[in-house]
Amino acid sequence: DDRIVSGNSSQEDAFELSLRPEWLQQYIGQHSVKENLAIFIQAAKLRNEPLDHVLLYGPPGLGKTTLAAIIAHEMGVQFRSTSGPAIERPGDLAAVLTALEPGDVLFIDEIHRLSRAVEEVLYSAMEDFFIDIVIGKGETARSVRLDLPPFTLVGATTRAGSLSSPLRDRFGVLSRLEFYGTRDLQEIVVRTASVFNMKIDDESAVEIASRSRGTPRIANRLFKRVRDFAQVEGTEEISVALAMKALEMLQVDRLGLDHIDHKLLEGIIHKYKGGPVGIETLSATIGEETHTIEDVYEPYLLQIGFIQRTPRGRVATALAYDHFQLEMPNS
Ligand code: ADP
Repeated sequence: DDRIVSGNSSQEDAFELSLRPEWLQQYIGQHSVKENLAIFIQAAKLRNEPLDHVLLYGPPGLGKTTLAAIIAHEMGVQFRSTSGPAIERPGDLAAVLTALEPGDVLFIDEIHRLSRAVEEVLYSAMEDFFIDIVIGKGETARSVRLDLPPFTLVGATTRAGSLSSPLRDRFGVLSRLEFYGTRDLQEIVVRTASVFNMKIDDESAVEIASRSRGTPRIANRLFKRVRDFAQVEGTEEISVALAMKALEMLQVDRLGLDHIDHKLLEGIIHKYKGGPVGIETLSATIGEETHTIEDVYEPYLLQIGFIQRTPRGRVATALAYDHFQLEMPNS
């Protein structure tokens, strides 16, 4: 999707790669996740063992891939990366696993999208570092056991709930990433600016941070657009006036909401008198898939308290009415 405020990654990979912190120390925010991981990493290194398997979950763009790469770096091992949809058959997984070296970190993004058959092969790999694979067909088919080097699986998913419990149970460490506060995002923007040799004042950094929906990927993306503006104006300094001008052009409001959020909220408010309205109905009304609403649009609106989930559907709250300067109907 081409939404500037979407947490999903797009073609900006080179830009993002250049911004990835390499050490836990440089990873901003997520204090409890970081503290725990630091201890587990240190303990594993003292025992000279690979780290336990780690499951990272939370909305897109919060730093799951970054953290997985940091884990490998801190452990002093190779980082291998793939994704659930990329591993179509058990044989694909076998190829990935048998290429690992002792201690390596294998990162599987969107791990909830692994097929059942692939997932089942993963169980013994995670638990006892071997896989049984079937080679040949029909009468000549036979099962072969392949021993694997000990490794660390780091899985990432937007929803821990969509993982089967046998898979979830095989992770020793489960860490939930939270939306970032404005201060952390401000720090991220300042760091990003320095990577690109740009000067930015605190006020401008806050202006970008507060429109980033708690998401570092969005903060970096907004920064990139603001930087474009600065470059066109021939300056290496980002002032508030310039930041505001750029952000206004992007049509992202002061909370980071864009036309899709507005459509969603105004749909609930105007068409359904503030709700409750079922997710399917809402999806039909605004023309967006239910899972996109649930995974991409809704989490942040829930986080800032603009909508609530009730057993009968979504409800717009007083905060949402206030944001649009509308009177809330008495119920
Ligand atoms: P996810 O895998 O959760 O979708 P990524 O790890 O790809 O998210 O992070 C997206 C971008 O945000 C990366 O370019 C990374 O540089 C930046 N980022 C994420 N988390 C942090 C953080 N804690 N500190 C600094 N930058 C971060």
